[in-house]
Amino acid sequence: VDRSGVTFVNSFADPRGMPFSPLPEVTLVGRSNVGKSSALNALSGRRKRVAQVSKTPGRTRLINLFSVGSALTVTDLPGYGFAKVSAELQEEWRRNVEAYLRQRENLRAAVVFIDSQREPQAVDAQILDFLAFHEIPSVVVATKVDKVRPSQLDNCMAALRRGLALPPDQPIPFSSTTGVGRKELWQYLQEICLA
Ligand code: GDP
Repeated sequence: VDRSGVTFVNSFADPRGMPFSPLPEVTLVGRSNVGKSSALNALSGRRKRVAQVSKTPGRTRLINLFSVGSALTVTDLPGYGFAKVSAELQEEWRRNVEAYLRQRENLRAAVVFIDSQREPQAVDAQILDFLAFHEIPSVVVATKVDKVRPSQLDNCMAALRRGLALPPDQPIPFSSTTGVGRKELWQYLQEICLA
């Protein structure tokens, strides 16, 4: 996978409007502010903030599609767990995201971002259950580990692992600031492409 080649393709309100792609696709999910766009920027390794587009007004509720070289496509799903949106918008989010997860034929895996500083949230467990139900393999990435005291890191990862019933090699500790976990996440994405 050519890391430098992360480029924005387009945004979609309705997953049915997304173009067919023969490449494997990985989707990024997580609560708002978890550090998902920063992670995508860190992965791309470019100074230009490729994921900035996900933050521009009007696009935050859309499915943003990126291509990674000529090997992989990545979607950035709208962040879940907005405290202040109406029930109607929550319902729209659920409907669009569910349609995407159900119908996207080239979808191979999901990266679920959780904040390493927080207790595991019920909504994170629900997302993992939902992905498992739809038989979409997932990997959990614990973001912002630079904010966790090094002496606490193991405990912190173990608590997330226990709370979300994760396999022994998860969550992947990650920091967009220090670059920790970038290699491991790339490795995982690469395995998906080759699978
Ligand atoms: P998103 O809503 O999930 O896309 O979250 P963002 O990537 O926009 O990040 C939300 C906030 O967390 C921003 O203020 C970022 O600067 C901060 N942030 C993101 N990743 C990291 C990280 O690895 N370390 C630290 N310390 N802050 C981070």
